[in-house]
Amino acid sequence: MKRKSRKRAFSLYILIQILNVFTVTILSIGCFLIAYQAIVHIEDKIGAVHFTLYWMSTYSLALIILHLFLSKKLIEKITEPLHSLIDYMELLSKGRMETTTKPTFSTPNQEMNMLDKRFTEVINYMRQRFDNLEQEAETDPLTGLANRRTLEAVFAEIHATSETFAVLMIDIDHFKVVNDTYGHGVGDEVLCFIAQLMKNVSREQDVCCRFGGEEFIMLLAGTDACHARTVAERLREKMASTRSPTGKAVTVSIGITDNADQPHDLKILLERADIALYQAKNQGRNRTIIEAAPNPMHRS
Ligand code: GH3
Ligand code: MG
Ligand code: MG
Repeated sequence: MKRKSRKRAFSLYILIQILNVFTVTILSIGCFLIAYQAIVHIEDKIGAVHFTLYWMSTYSLALIILHLFLSKKLIEKITEPLHSLIDYMELLSKGRMETTTKPTFSTPNQEMNMLDKRFTEVINYMRQRFDNLEQEAETDPLTGLANRRTLEAVFAEIHATSETFAVLMIDIDHFKVVNDTYGHGVGDEVLCFIAQLMKNVSREQDVCCRFGGEEFIMLLAGTDACHARTVAERLREKMASTRSPTGKAVTVSIGITDNADQPHDLKILLERADIALYQAKNQGRNRTIIEAAPNPMHRS
């Protein structure tokens, strides 16, 4: 395809050059004939002079028009890539980088191809940086889980697509003691350790988030509080029975709620999960408590 367009532009260029030579040749021959006839037989051949003049000007005019037409086509061919680049840049300036694909083209113009190549490199570099920044803005740098900022957006998505979903609030027990005993570095390793276990017990459509400090949230799509308890218990038991980076097991307390009463605000669900978590801590830690949603039938 690229080769074809390059070949076509090159043929057009050659054709124009041939026309140039042809026009100049005809003009020269015509001039020569006129001069010759004027010198040799000016009186007898005045009719022939007129004929030559007429013939020469008609053909020259036709050639000039053809020449102009082909030159216009060639200029259009050369500037076409520039125009498509300008259109593309206009879309980029309107913030449509994600949805727009860069036009591809090939011209016989070396500089234009070079410009296109460099332009593609710049766009790819910017896209890469943009993706990285987006990823950094959405992710907790220590654990690699979603961060608190992302939670609202994810909640909106799950709220719109999933009829039932559960919220788990997970807090490490006596984490301050872990830091004080083993140091902040080991504390960080424990945070990464629990993040990994959360990923292990959850499914792909679930969302694991570091809510802050040593608190985590899990949003389980298509799951009510009862079924969420199974997941929570799997995580809690795994934590309680596995050696953490401290060399000993570290336990967690978990509060659960679900959206049975259809709350539109994440804040309400988080408050309810926090109440359940508080109860779990009060009842001795290393346990899972459900704070059920108020029954919508009993609400005024
Ligand atoms: P509880 O069982 O009641 O939850 O007790 P706790 O010690 O876990 O809770 P507390 O809120 O008293 O302490 C939380 C600790 O978490 C204090 C803080 O230094 C630590 N922490 C918060 N963020 C980080 C972090 O990014 N890395 C490390 N290593 N520690 C952190
Ligand atoms: Mg804690
Ligand atoms: Mg805490």
